[in-house]
Amino acid sequence: MVPGCEGRVNAETKKEVLQAAAAHAADAHGMTELSDEVVEKVKASIVPTS
Ligand SMILES: [Zn+2]
Repeated sequence: MVPGCEGRVNAETKKEVLQAAAAHAADAHGMTELSDEVVEKVKASIVPTS
């Protein structure tokens, strides 16, 4: 979701993925909120595991 970032999140639902992504962005990148662009990237990168 961030250039050069190897962070990945595992979650059951898109909502949880976005929450986990937001938490990661805040912890790892100091991003206090996700821009629409980032949210779209996160959604696009979601791969169903089931
Ligand atoms: Zn990251």
